[in-house]
Amino acid sequence: MPAFPKAADTSTHNTQLRANLRHATHTIRAKRATAVAELDDWGRLRAAGAAIKDRTLRHLDHYLEQLERAVTAAGGQVHWAADADEANRIVTELVRATGEREVVKVKSMATQEIGLNHALAEAGITAYETDLAELIVQLGDDLPSHILVPAIHRNRAEIRDIFTAKMARWGRPAPDGLTDAPADLAEAARLHLREKFLNAKVGVSGANFMVAETGTLVVVESEGNGRMCLTLPDTLISVVGIEKVVPTFQDLEVFLQLLPRSSTAERMNPYTSTWTGTTDDDGPRAFHLVLLDNGRTDALADTVGRQALRCIRCSACLNVCPVYERAGGHAYGSAYPGPIGAILTPQLRGTQSELDASLPYASSLCGACYEVCPVAIDIPEVLLHLRERVVEGGPASVRGTRAVIKPAKGHAAERAAMRAASWALDHPRVLRSGQRLASRTRRFHPRRLPGPGRAWSDSRELPTVPAESFRDWWQRTRTTTTPRHGDDRNTP
Ligand code: SF4
Repeated sequence: MPAFPKAADTSTHNTQLRANLRHATHTIRAKRATAVAELDDWGRLRAAGAAIKDRTLRHLDHYLEQLERAVTAAGGQVHWAADADEANRIVTELVRATGEREVVKVKSMATQEIGLNHALAEAGITAYETDLAELIVQLGDDLPSHILVPAIHRNRAEIRDIFTAKMARWGRPAPDGLTDAPADLAEAARLHLREKFLNAKVGVSGANFMVAETGTLVVVESEGNGRMCLTLPDTLISVVGIEKVVPTFQDLEVFLQLLPRSSTAERMNPYTSTWTGTTDDDGPRAFHLVLLDNGRTDALADTVGRQALRCIRCSACLNVCPVYERAGGHAYGSAYPGPIGAILTPQLRGTQSELDASLPYASSLCGACYEVCPVAIDIPEVLLHLRERVVEGGPASVRGTRAVIKPAKGHAAERAAMRAASWALDHPRVLRSGQRLASRTRRFHPRRLPGPGRAWSDSRELPTVPAESFRDWWQRTRTTTTPRHGDDRNTP
């Protein structure tokens, strides 16, 4: 896939897509702001969420082992997957062992991240998405473009056309004369999916949280499809990133307040499903938990970047991001679009590819993402940190071992400019001479930069160089102005 600017070039020229995205993100963000404003202690909840995540990440090995013991004691089986290939292989073998060729799925970012549906298809196993938006994406041979609303780029008329054309190929066809009324579309999906739920013998899910003290997994959702997938099949396989663990139920309570208001702008989400291993005569007979690393321990080793692992996938940062609103989710080339994708994907996959090296630049650094993040991830700080890594390279953890990564290609001019700036700022006399020269020659400065700087200045007004630098002005006025009564010249 090409770098972000090239990938976004197509979507930014798609006026229908931009209209869909603008309408959806502005609606969700306004509702979220109202839901959050209802709580007097939102700031304290946010700080508590960040602190719990940071404490858990600092002792991640301890909490994961505690979780494994608790899940095993409750009748579940824990599998450890270092990367996407290993996770896909484990899940494929588990499904094969049941003798089934079909699974139903709860919406899961982790399984999108590892490309599980594709891996299962290669093994002759069909995965049916049961979340409404994921169903739209799957029937449309499409890709998700939003964490919470994967089909945010589709409008009602497009969804009706997809259902009419594609549902029959996957199971129960769409009703004749299907309209684009939301209730009709939801009913068509309900009828189509009900058959899948009732026939399914294997369910695949992710989890929003895992409670270490009890071995309990938690899925938070709005449609009830998750509850069906988690309770009806005989075998349940959950693929969960290792950063989703929280120590106790008391800690979980904080996130069950933060997540619904931040994501769907609800005080409480309609369905919160919890399960702990297996229970006789109730729910799945077999439960497998696949704990996924896939770059997370590399992110954990980075003292600046690790805050991305606090993310609870609420998608609030996407809904306020001016870049996401215009570019859409597909341009990020990852299961994680928007601001969180711009900092998480380059940490999980590295910055070697053209696309991944471009993601930290997919931001105006306006800071709106940080303002809304319910776990206070300073996304602009991590973006700048990753830009430095892209331009300069340097030490990093790669697949669990320390390595020195090379600078990404194509940043030579930026690197040279930053080094020159650094050198000049370290030499005040040179800086002063340069400033004076720039002031004296300002009438001759071009309005557009030459060479690699042209693209930057094509869309920006270059600042006008002042006739006198601040430093010179300060020196001149300090030495010629008579102090007024009460002026304290020694005040710093
Ligand atoms: S980074 Fe923050 S705002 Fe964005 S999805 Fe994650 S938790 Fe939500």
